[in-house]
Amino acid sequence: MTITRTSPIQHRHYDAVIIGARVAGAATAMLLARRGLRVLAVDRSGYGSDTLSSHALMRGAVTQLHRWGVLPAVIAAGTPALKWTVFQYGSTTMPIEIPDHRGVNALYAPRRTVLDRLLVDAARESGAEIHHGITLVEVLKDNDSRVRGVGLRTAHGEVNITADVVIGADGLRSSVARAVEAPITRQGHHASAFILQYLTDVDLPTDRYHWLYSEQRGAGVIPTNDGQIAVFAGLPQSRFNVEARHNVTGTFHRVLAEIDTEVAAAVAAGTAAGPIRSFPGRAGQFRKPVGPGWMLVGDAGYFKDPYSAHGISDALRDAELLADALVDGNPDRYEKQRDALSADLFDVLERVASYDWDLNELQQLHLQMSKAMNNEMATVDTLWPDQVALAAVA
Ligand SMILES: Cc1cc2nc3c(=O)[nH]c(=O)nc-3n(C[C@H](O)[C@H](O)[C@H](O)COP(=O)(O)OP(=O)(O)OC[C@H]3O[C@@H](n4cnc5c(N)ncnc54)[C@H](O)[C@@H]3O)c2cc1C
Repeated sequence: MTITRTSPIQHRHYDAVIIGARVAGAATAMLLARRGLRVLAVDRSGYGSDTLSSHALMRGAVTQLHRWGVLPAVIAAGTPALKWTVFQYGSTTMPIEIPDHRGVNALYAPRRTVLDRLLVDAARESGAEIHHGITLVEVLKDNDSRVRGVGLRTAHGEVNITADVVIGADGLRSSVARAVEAPITRQGHHASAFILQYLTDVDLPTDRYHWLYSEQRGAGVIPTNDGQIAVFAGLPQSRFNVEARHNVTGTFHRVLAEIDTEVAAAVAAGTAAGPIRSFPGRAGQFRKPVGPGWMLVGDAGYFKDPYSAHGISDALRDAELLADALVDGNPDRYEKQRDALSADLFDVLERVASYDWDLNELQQLHLQMSKAMNNEMATVDTLWPDQVALAAVA
């Protein structure tokens, strides 16, 4: 393959080439470029395109976006500030007000058309080169099987680019992970199915995440951009396979009505802002995220059941852990930190996604999730400049 004169790619060699430029890839590109690396990120999808997600951010992610200077653009895009997160177990409702933490006192659920685009913009402003409409064709290795670069397909032909490190941020079905034969180090066994719809004119509060549960079912109401609310119904894969494959819309409304008739009625009276989408479920897994000349970040390296509403938050967390470890010349530290911070949440999610719980036990599982998230917050907090400065002095 040869570089063509019209290729949009500016250089033949980069410190880091990233495949995938959504939350994991764009954030990693931004952070590495800010640390002075020459970075190329490519994505086969379009700039600002959508992807399936209910896009709820956890507190750690919001504080990271704030620290990175990206949060003002998220807010300016009209993403509503959510002051509450409400858990509803049957008829028991537990509202939790979002506390102020490092200047952030709300949660946000930006559409991926908003968040992914703003992260790409921030990465470009930080000096990273990012191109859309470019597909990974092959991962190039030397005789010792060390990764040395990538072959890419652009609209103008195919091109080989060399790199000190190739980072797979290319999602669950990562081509990079497959090419480097990244071992699966932990495999989950349970998976939830989801049915999701965006609506407007829904007579429900727009200042909160509302998570609802009854035995064998869950749902979420998540206000997002453009006055829309994302509503999802979660159900065991076995039920999805029997019911939803034939009537996804009917199953969506039925699951909601089985959990809360008032919420279901409000959703049924709303105006659909797009087609119903579904996700049949996929068990979680960890892949080894570091090897000779390659790294994995985001879903490519660690996928978890979407019940956690945690994939984006983990992608941002791991982008920062990866960037710090790589720049410090200690990429293995990234794997240790990622696995240590993720193990507890993954264990709890296995239980949640099994649907083998009653509402009392589910509350206990959520408390365990909350504890795991507090540990995560504490680690992400050590990355604030004041904490880094303190650590350097100590
Ligand atoms: C139903 C559902 C609901 C969810 N809800 C939430 C939620 O509420 N909150 C939350 O935090 N998370 C949620 N998630 C999880 C979240 O969407 C993912 O964790 C997140 O998208 C992972 O981001 P990523 O950047 O790692 O990968 P992705 O978003 O999958 O992006 C990978 C990118 O790589 C590109 N790519 C792939 N292969 C190639 C190639 N060969 N060449 C070039 N480009 C390539 C793709 O085009 C894509 O743009 C949900 C997931 C699902 C399925």
